[in-house]
Amino acid sequence: MKELPKLELHLHLEGAAPPAFIRGLAAEKSVNLSGIFDARGAYAYRDFVDFLRVYEAACTVLQTPQDFYRLTRAVLEASSAEGVIYTEAFLSPDFCGGRDLDAWRDYLAAMTEAAADAEAADGIVMRGIVTCIRHFGPEAARETARCAAETAGAFITGFGIAGDEMKGAPKDFAYAFDMAREAELQLTAHAGEWGGARSVRDAVRDLGVTRIGHGVQAIEDPALLEELAEAGITLEVCPGSNVALGVYPNWRAHPIERLRKAGVPVTVSTDDPPFFHTTMSGEYENLAQSFGWELPDFAAITYAALDAAFCDTATREALRTRLAPTFGEFT
Ligand SMILES: [Zn+2]
Repeated sequence: MKELPKLELHLHLEGAAPPAFIRGLAAEKSVNLSGIFDARGAYAYRDFVDFLRVYEAACTVLQTPQDFYRLTRAVLEASSAEGVIYTEAFLSPDFCGGRDLDAWRDYLAAMTEAAADAEAADGIVMRGIVTCIRHFGPEAARETARCAAETAGAFITGFGIAGDEMKGAPKDFAYAFDMAREAELQLTAHAGEWGGARSVRDAVRDLGVTRIGHGVQAIEDPALLEELAEAGITLEVCPGSNVALGVYPNWRAHPIERLRKAGVPVTVSTDDPPFFHTTMSGEYENLAQSFGWELPDFAAITYAALDAAFCDTATREALRTRLAPTFGEFT
């Protein structure tokens, strides 16, 4: 599966940090992070809220723009090894200078440079989605949206919201999303992972997003599925993440195939791969085993991702050219 060219739309940059990379930085900076790893050196957490705690603890060793340069290179190297040729990463001004605009510019310059260096080295293309964190509240989200709006351009192409879905309502963040929309950023929101089908409906209506992070619980509402299919709202589905966090008990119980059959545009991503002990190839292998997916199915999700990617036309067409030798006959 590694050899198939892949597009990934839902990847949290810090959440993709290899544990060994975080441990190395912790040692360099004399930060004690022993409480967040298990005996084998993997990230250890009990449930979703504890996962957020471990995630934020790991982020405390990422302290400078240079740390984010190294993080971005490490993440893109790992993605490229999985066959990923295009990735959109969620970037958090919260973890890059505490939402201060000048500090954010410095961090962003380092990540942009790392992305350019990775593209030159491995051919992997990266775009950034500036992401506010729901449980930090609407005020912080506005500051994050300002960072996004001020740095929108060739590299920062989207705005989104992540974090604890059960805190607050999408409409609380409408102002932040309006700022991002005015800056011509494309929009996505985490919903329908924990908050039910209603949270998907609310995010589409109140935030005007064209993509939903996860969105899998839309399966509970047939009318909503029709609306998503009609409007072409793309789901960034991360099955391995859902299974690891217990949203579904196992791969076969995951609704990805039913969502696809309902006509909803479906893509596949890893979310926070080392936290969920997954990789893009691992997702593909599980999809093949659980649902019998073959090359035409992987072509379908790849072209769905290409259509929904937050990139310009030239980038999209260049990617299409790179996909053609593998998937061209299925377009
Ligand atoms: Zn996510």
